[in-house]
Amino acid sequence: LVELRHVDKHFGPLHVLRDVSLTVDRGEVVVVIGPSGGGKSTLCRAINRLEVIDSGEIAIDGRPLPAEGRELARLRADVGMVFQSFNLFAHKTVLQNVTLGQIKVRRKGRKAAEERARGLLDRVGVGTQADKYPAQLSGGQQQRVAIARALAMDPKIMLFDEPTSALDPEMINEVLEVMRQLARDGMTMVVVTHEMGFARSAANHVVFMADGRIVEETTPDEFFTAPRTDRARDFLSKIL
Ligand code: ATP
Ligand code: MG
Repeated sequence: LVELRHVDKHFGPLHVLRDVSLTVDRGEVVVVIGPSGGGKSTLCRAINRLEVIDSGEIAIDGRPLPAEGRELARLRADVGMVFQSFNLFAHKTVLQNVTLGQIKVRRKGRKAAEERARGLLDRVGVGTQADKYPAQLSGGQQQRVAIARALAMDPKIMLFDEPTSALDPEMINEVLEVMRQLARDGMTMVVVTHEMGFARSAANHVVFMADGRIVEETTPDEFFTAPRTDRARDFLSKIL
């Protein structure tokens, strides 16, 4: 579904993605882990063209990423993204947050969009919060709204960039549980996270990134019990 080949990206003198090749199949959950500054966020952002790569190829469904215009807007709708900071529209209600894109990008009528939004808000457990504003919700609730908003676009794939890092501990699990359910429902997902429990239980593949490179790509079982590289062993010894 998503294919990266020999992707390189610099920020000025900084080489942040180095010859990155990665395939994500339909229905797969790929968890990306690794030290700070390793390029994980840049990798996610490159997949929906929030960052433009210097060289290499990225294709979704066999088609190269569009450079601009309506094609690019459609790509962004097909690739749902959930960030560490929830990025909800502060001056819109929860319901409006989840209907806006459906109406503007997917050209749905208001009624159909609201129906879909309410269904998704129920599914992520915040159905009763529809008429509130983001600031009136807890962090965990806001993040679940952000997930519902991305899902409302019927994305082909969901990218999560440290979706629980900004949350208080007691709220982390409610968000991870929504993500686990999504995975069980067959959503294709790329998840950058430091939640090793999630990586172990939900990932089909673990990608370990450091210094802009994919250092290891393996099953969670193998990664956590028998990492192949010193870099991964060193990282795991610090976080486990
Ligand atoms: P973290 O775990 O801290 O989120 P990361 O693995 O997501 O780290 P990236 O955010 O992808 O790492 O950053 C990779 C490198 O690129 C870092 O050295 C970072 O400082 C640099 N970088 C990221 N975005 C930019 C930018 N817009 N301009 C310049 N440098 C950037
Ligand atoms: Mg990051």
